[in-house]
Amino acid sequence: MLIRKIAAAVFAVLALGGVQAVTAAPATAAPRILYYDASQAQEFKAVVDQGAQIWNNSVTNVRLLPVTAGRTPNIRVYADNGWPRAYTSSLGNGSWYMGRQAVNQGYHPPRIAAHEFGHLLGLPDRRTGLCADLMSGSSAPVNCTNPNPNATEARTVNNRFASAAVAVPSKVYVWQ
Ligand SMILES: [Zn+2]
Repeated sequence: MLIRKIAAAVFAVLALGGVQAVTAAPATAAPRILYYDASQAQEFKAVVDQGAQIWNNSVTNVRLLPVTAGRTPNIRVYADNGWPRAYTSSLGNGSWYMGRQAVNQGYHPPRIAAHEFGHLLGLPDRRTGLCADLMSGSSAPVNCTNPNPNATEARTVNNRFASAAVAVPSKVYVWQ
């Protein structure tokens, strides 16, 4: 009888321990949500959404969502006649411009949008001249229509958002 009670107690402790182990180690961390405001992107609102969607399809640790009423956006998107450019204040925060100067020269608008979001996600310019690289920007041929990050670019963004506090200096990135 005593042995049976002890066995039951040990089983209960083991079961409790098992439950605790499961709750202490969540299978997947929730992605960090970044809200963007495209309301001032003029004729480029749809292409801004497209750029955000490209990233959402490419990475798991961060999601770009349209800002909802009453919420302060992490990222504001504008449009003007200059070069596309991004202003980062910290990882995931800042603004970028859809610049008509590049659009009018023939650069692919979805590629520009995904590239500028890439800066907000912590990627610098890498002017490799390769269309396969999203962050090669204007160094790739003007007729390059690849809007997707390559595997290294996607992995870098996932790594940057894997932990809560990765310091990224504030910076300005210009398309040309
Ligand atoms: Zn750039």
